[in-house]
Amino acid sequence: MAGEEQKKRKHTALHNSAVILLGTLLTVIIVLCIFIACEIRSMQSQIIVLQQEVISLGEQVAAEEKKQQAELVVENEKIQGAAEADSEEQASLDVDFLENQLELDYIEQDGGTWDENTGIRRVYLTFDDGPSTYTNEILDILNEYGVKATFFVVGKEGYTEEYQRIVEEGHTLGMHSFSHKYQEMYQSLDSYKEDLTKLHEFLYETTGVDSRIVRFPGGSSNKTSKVDMQELISYLTEENIVYYDWNVSSGDASNVYVSAQQIANNVLNNVWKYDSVIVLMHDSSAKYATVQALPTIIEKILESENTVLLPISEDTVPIQHIKAECQ
Ligand SMILES: [Zn+2]
Repeated sequence: MAGEEQKKRKHTALHNSAVILLGTLLTVIIVLCIFIACEIRSMQSQIIVLQQEVISLGEQVAAEEKKQQAELVVENEKIQGAAEADSEEQASLDVDFLENQLELDYIEQDGGTWDENTGIRRVYLTFDDGPSTYTNEILDILNEYGVKATFFVVGKEGYTEEYQRIVEEGHTLGMHSFSHKYQEMYQSLDSYKEDLTKLHEFLYETTGVDSRIVRFPGGSSNKTSKVDMQELISYLTEENIVYYDWNVSSGDASNVYVSAQQIANNVLNNVWKYDSVIVLMHDSSAKYATVQALPTIIEKILESENTVLLPISEDTVPIQHIKAECQ
């Protein structure tokens, strides 16, 4: 009996141990399962966060690309616009070039006018066809050297500050032509009057300057005008307006590329021939070489003795390719 009792107790103890062991095992398994489940959930949420980040990154890249494309379109439009403006300007400069060339021949035949008795050489730098994208740069250079010049401008919208800066910084604001379209402005006396009056009023409204000096597009000796230049000259005389041509051309209106060095040479090789020198240059978005040549031209002129750089004023004796006929 006792043996059986002992056997039974042993069995019970064994059973209990098995239950405890099983219970412990189950607990461990459950804990492990919970831990694994938690890990999986955390990984899933991390994956979701990562996915969202990838999506938002993709959106950012797409937005950036879109922005860059839009900027590219704007840039292309700008370039196209500038090219169109340049080709328009180039067309008028080509006409200038042909006529300036005629004028250079004329001056060379005419010979110099250097008068050794005066002792002082007066040099007047003049810029036609502005304002342009380079006006500010030209003004900066003139400012740097403390030099005043003359601008024979055309009528252009969107350059109010440039017109005003020319005046505020002490340069002379002269008239060139409102439209600078030879075929229209030189059609008749009336069309010339209309063009010049429009420019005169435009400049007066923009800067307050009542300009009384003018440069004919192509010079007074141009061969394009359909109306006799003497008629236009008589009109200017009646209006108390003086026209200024030039005796030294920088050659920057050439229809082929002219380097800054060549422009500087054209001016500096000829400036010494006269005691009163009016230099023809252009303020044009198609002619950056002029801007590049300017510091050398100014430095060499300022270096030479008895030579001054001046803006054209009422006292300036005009250089005129053709003179008014006596009446
Ligand atoms: Zn011109």
